[in-house]
Amino acid sequence: MPMQCWQTSCRWLAVALALLSALAVAADDGMSTERRAMVATVAAMARDFRAGGIDARVLAALERLPRHEFVPAPLRASAYENRPLPVGYGQTISQPYIVAVMTDLLRVGAGDTALEIGTGSGYQAAVLAELGVKVSTIEIVEPLAREAAERLRRLGYGGIATRIGDGYHGWPEQGPFDAIMVTAAASHVPPPLLRQLKTGGRMVIPVGPPFQTQQLMLVEKRADGTLLTRQLMPVVFVPLTGGHD
Ligand code: SAH
Repeated sequence: MPMQCWQTSCRWLAVALALLSALAVAADDGMSTERRAMVATVAAMARDFRAGGIDARVLAALERLPRHEFVPAPLRASAYENRPLPVGYGQTISQPYIVAVMTDLLRVGAGDTALEIGTGSGYQAAVLAELGVKVSTIEIVEPLAREAAERLRRLGYGGIATRIGDGYHGWPEQGPFDAIMVTAAASHVPPPLLRQLKTGGRMVIPVGPPFQTQQLMLVEKRADGTLLTRQLMPVVFVPLTGGHD
């Protein structure tokens, strides 16, 4: 009967709608509002401090990434505040604004290769991977490196190559790289990293004394092989350790 059929379809429609909304809740990890607010803060800061702001692709990557999965459980409620947080072993996950700026400076996209020194939580490596970059990352603190590798695999970033060791020496077997990012403060730009940067490639690195203000430097390897180095902004990073130099 037409009326009954109508009621039956209504019931099915209601069931389908309920299923769809359940799926939507499952896809949302409950932190999307905080994450959107974090990205809005980062974008607003970039508008104030950087000509041209931050590439929309970088902001979209931040909006997709569950930063709360990269911080220790007791700090999850603070995961989307625009500040660095401790990740254990005296190390930190960088402030989201700094992650965005450093990523933006590399001007990388799908198919590019990047080397990161200082895996820490794995968050920065995952941001680069979200942009389609083939990422290799090195961490000197063994348990941090193991935890990050496990976390990255669990979250679907198993394509990121991870290594335990002193990043000062780079990863020649994986190079040369389109981009290199050092996320710990060095006293100087490590020559092995310069050698592993492709012509036309870009490196960002904080340079300066440990536990004081350092300068974020952008190093570009020009077509003729010469280096163009620019000092961009004051930053504070944990030191690059490892007993080199
Ligand atoms: N990029 C990280 C945060 C970096 S904190 C993130 O997204 O979470 C800096 C990291 O550099 C620390 O984990 C520290 O242990 C590591 N580190 C310090 N010196 C290093 C070295 N010589 N080689 C590799 N990693 C180093």
